[in-house]
Amino acid sequence: MNHPDPQGLTRPYGRFFLPGPVEVRPEVLAAQLKPMTGHRGPDVQAFIGELQTGLKDAFRTERPVFIVPCSGTGLMEAAIRNGASTRVLSLVNGAFSKRFSDIARQCGREVDEVSIPWGEAQDPDQVAEALSVRKYDAVTVAHSETSTGVLNNLEVLSEVVHRHASTLLLVDSVSGAAGAELQTDSWGLDFVLAGGQKAFSLPPGVSFGVASRSMIERAKEVDGRGYYFDLVSYAENMEKLQTPTTPALSTLFALQIQLRLMAKETMEVRWARHRRMAERTWAWVEEMNSSGVQLRVVAPEGYRSPTVTVVEVPDGVSAPLVVDTVKQRGWVIGGGYGKLKPTTFRIGHMGEHTVEELEELLSVLAEILT
Ligand SMILES: *Cc1c(COP(=O)(O)O)cnc(C)c1O
Repeated sequence: MNHPDPQGLTRPYGRFFLPGPVEVRPEVLAAQLKPMTGHRGPDVQAFIGELQTGLKDAFRTERPVFIVPCSGTGLMEAAIRNGASTRVLSLVNGAFSKRFSDIARQCGREVDEVSIPWGEAQDPDQVAEALSVRKYDAVTVAHSETSTGVLNNLEVLSEVVHRHASTLLLVDSVSGAAGAELQTDSWGLDFVLAGGQKAFSLPPGVSFGVASRSMIERAKEVDGRGYYFDLVSYAENMEKLQTPTTPALSTLFALQIQLRLMAKETMEVRWARHRRMAERTWAWVEEMNSSGVQLRVVAPEGYRSPTVTVVEVPDGVSAPLVVDTVKQRGWVIGGGYGKLKPTTFRIGHMGEHTVEELEELLSVLAEILT
């Protein structure tokens, strides 16, 4: 199977392992060729209604799922603008959780951080300790920290945060949702945001957000929550199966097809498939070690993301050169992110990939590294 490619840059399907954007199924790409419609009226409401059903299942929520034309970072800003008036506690353990903290500061909030070394997972006791010292409007956290491959335990962190009645938990699940188990309602998450171009396997340009009742109540009180990312307006519009501004229609045509595929697979099976791809990658690292190539999975056992694995290369090996060599063989993996660039590469085993496709990539990587 090849991608249709008007520029003649045909690439076989299933070789693109970036941790976002990710490989998109040809039939999902093709759905974007549908002609435009107006974005108001009964047809569109039925269309958005169908999208709501699939998205609610993906997020495990009874709440409306906001569909916003922006990349994931846009909804990180929405989280802050709607969820906090004064002080924010940012849990930082990598580049994206650091970005959340930076956004809060740029939006004029007072920010404290629980900053731990990149590659570690947040310790609930340390977070509880920080929350006992000062009062916070909100806590920010990355579910799956894409720069390190660490998965934070949202269920436990949510319990710790909600010991404080007026503190909200704002979750960046951009590389978690639709790949890693996520239980928005039963874990009591106040705002969860995700980008379409990660485990949802969509072309970039659309993001999703789910807000608890407390989050919407907070948003009503916050000064200057802004216009474009006004979640109160999103909530009111979504009740009528509308969006406040023009939706990214072509991307939503793709989403419709993608959600049907996801419903057929079921979320439980999708989560399990991601787990199997991650486990295969970790096992491969062990195999490489046994054959004398000293690789290391950056994330500690028990806190590894099912959607992305960050692998540290041996001393003296250039990770960017490994990424380039993989590319010359016709495959794509991610380079290390930020300060991990020289020493790590990232495998985005998320979206529609299968263990079989991954196996082929790992054998290419093994050839290059030995
Ligand atoms: C990709 C990613 C983002 C940024 O998303 P954009 O869509 O590029 O704005 C934020 N957080 C995490 C965890 C990510 O993986």
